[in-house]
Parts: sequence; C-alpha cells; structure tokens
Amino acid sequence: MIVEPKIRNGICMSAHPEGCALAVQKEIDYVKSQPKYNGAKKVLVVGGSTGYGLSSRISLAFGSGAGTLNISFEKEGSEKKPATPGYYNNRAFDEKAQAAGLIAESINADAFSHETRKIAIERIKELFGKVDMIVYSLASPVRPDPDTGELYKSCLKPLGEVYTAKSVNPEKGTVTEVSIEPADPSEIEPTVKVMGGEDWMLWIKALKEADVLEAGFKTLAYSYIGPELTMAVYRKGTIGKAKEHLEATAKEITDYVKDLNGNAWVSVNKALVTRSSSVIPVVPLYISLLFKIMKEKGIHEGCIEQMQRMFVEKIYNGADVILDNEGRIRLDDWEMREDVQDEVAKQWDSITTETLASNTDIETYKSDFLKLHGFGFSEIDYSKDVDLL
Ligand code: NAD
Repeated sequence: MIVEPKIRNGICMSAHPEGCALAVQKEIDYVKSQPKYNGAKKVLVVGGSTGYGLSSRISLAFGSGAGTLNISFEKEGSEKKPATPGYYNNRAFDEKAQAAGLIAESINADAFSHETRKIAIERIKELFGKVDMIVYSLASPVRPDPDTGELYKSCLKPLGEVYTAKSVNPEKGTVTEVSIEPADPSEIEPTVKVMGGEDWMLWIKALKEADVLEAGFKTLAYSYIGPELTMAVYRKGTIGKAKEHLEATAKEITDYVKDLNGNAWVSVNKALVTRSSSVIPVVPLYISLLFKIMKEKGIHEGCIEQMQRMFVEKIYNGADVILDNEGRIRLDDWEMREDVQDEVAKQWDSITTETLASNTDIETYKSDFLKLHGFGFSEIDYSKDVDLL
C-alpha cells in the first residue's frame, strides 16, 4: 500500500515502515560516528520505542556495546493500516542491533502492569542475569492503577489562573492566541499518578525483589523545566507537579537501593519534537523559535545528540556524574543558557502568522515531526507500495 502522512489536530495517524527504519539507522550512524564509551552493558529501557527512550537505547547499544531489552506499547499494523511508528522503530532497531552482534529485544506490552514487570524480569534473567542500567522514559496520557485497575488521566493545565499565550498550528501555518483554563485541584493527583515517579519506583522494587539489579546499577528518568514562557502551563502546571514527584522519586530510589550501591537520577532534557511534546500547547511554537536561535549559535541538538552527550559527558565520563545543586543531570544547559533565553524573550513578540516562516524554524519543526513517523526522507520513494505488516 502507498502510505502518506495523515495529520489531525497535531497527531499523525500514519507511519511509514521504511522511513521509520531509516530514522533509526540515521541515529545509529550518528552514534557510530562518535568515539565509543564504556557505559552500561545490560540495559532495560521502559519506553524505548520513540523519542528520548529510543535514542537512549541506540546510544547505549552502539556507543557502549550494551544489550538492550525494551518495553513499549505499540500498535501492530494490518495490510491496510500502518502500525504506530514505535512498532516499526523497534523492529528496525532489534534487527540492526542483532545484526551487529548485540542482544536486542522488545516486549510490546503495558509497562504499567505488574504482569509486564513479571514477563520483563523473566526475560532479563534469560538474557542478562542482571541489569546495570534502567532507562525509564514513558510518556503517556493515561495509567491504569496496577492493583485496582482504576484509570488515571493526566492533563496539561496551569494552576490557579487562566494561561494565555501564542501557539502555532503547524499544518495551517497560523499563529493564534490560546487560553487554557486552570486545572481543578482534583486533576493534579491523577496527573502525578500517570507522569510522576510511582511507576518508576514499582519497577525498581520489582527488579530488586527479583534480584536482577547489578550492584552499582544506575537508573534514569527524564524531566523538563523550560523557559518563563511555558512556566505556567508546564513546570508550574499539573505536569510540573508530576515532574517534581518524579525528581523526588529519584532520591527515594537511591535511598531504597543503597545496599546495592545503586543510583537513580533525573535528567532534565531539552525541548524537542517528539510524539508527546507536539501535543503540548505553546511548546511547538517555542521549539520552532528555540531551534532557530540554537542553530544560529551552533548548539542545536536532537534526541540522539542529547542522549549521547548525556552518557558520554555527564554519566560515563570516568569521574563523578555531573549534577546540578538539586542532584539532577542538566541536558537543558544549552537551551537554558542566558544568551539563548534572552533571544527567545526578545524575538517571541515578533512572531505572527505573517512572520512565522522568517522569524522561526517552523520548517525544521514540521520536518522533524514528519520524520518521527517515517515521512519526509529524500532517500525514500513514497509513491511506491510498502508492506505495512
Ligand atoms: P515519546 O512519546 O516519544 O515516547 C514515549 C514512550 O513511552 C514510547 O516508547 C511509548 O511506547 C511508551 N509508552 C507510553 N505508554 C506506555 C505504556 N503504557 N506501556 C509501555 N510503553 C508506553 O516521548 P518523549 O518525548 O521521548 O518522552 C519521554 C520522557 O522524556 C518523558 O518523561 C518526557 O516528559 C521527557 N522529556 C521530553 C522532552 C521533549 O521535549 N520531548 C523534554 C524533556 C523531557
């Protein structure tokens, strides 16, 4: 079948299998072009099919020679309907890593369930015995409580006051003002339940109880802070409460695994185009401006460059892990540089529908978004039939 991008309300409903495989190959090629490093060797990635989780997996596998087991929740394709991009990414990654002589497997299941933890632990025992790194990179709008089955839904809302800011519709190329009503206080807890650290802790507890954590193991989860512009809707909004919880959980985990000399950290990453960030109001427009400014300064990075820098420079650097005053790894250090944020603040007001193309890098935003779904690669002939299974 011929597949084309099908975009509705900022969500792309289709994916191209060959394009997804090429995107994975390009990230592998980037890591192979960099010096090797001596990092983790037996890795569990929870949420490793797209975005930051996938790039973490690629960096550890091809940069440090790690075997990787990935847990993600993706939809398979049929003859007429494409799978989700993560499904094609996993297949491509597992094939390419295995061809390179690395252990690489993916389990397609709900990472929030106890049953999935059991399956993963059995597979860890068979593949590795124990793991020395757990990357926890889930982004989900919902989470069923693994004990009661109650479904929690997260929301992205400010607290206390209406938030009004400019936002872009990338498909239409229009910039309009959006207002988001503040969350009801009852919406905070479910957001923390979904995107906070509770599930991360449950994973570490299950792995420890099953005795599959290597002494000195490390575990990572990802967070975001961001600029003043998005503060009210992101860091000081409902999702920010969840990220605070995630960051506090890192400390709890480190305490819980003291006897194993284990360590849990949160890395605060840069705002990038992923399937999750594209649905956050205001963020796509901010990213479009940020990319332009960071490119002009020669410091632009994508997911793979960020994850490679994190492992090589911040974690496996041959000395202590580099942390901020609050014990977090900061990969948003370049995004948050004063000169970068000064430019963002200075140029933000000049963005209108008319100036969108000239004053921001909306083209890279759009092209990155398409590439997440395997579209927009010049190497691929999209007019050809492709097998969606
Ligand atoms: P993403 O949407 O690209 O990836 C999410 C992953 O979670 C996918 O592998 C998906 O399959 C998996 N997943 C979701 N629900 C699942 C379930 N029930 N069971 C198993 N797997 C499931 O997202 P991303 O942007 O890479 O986000 C990963 C983390 O990085 C999040 O914590 C996010 O807040 C953080 N982060 C993102 C950005 C950004 O700009 N994208 C910036 C900083 C931090």
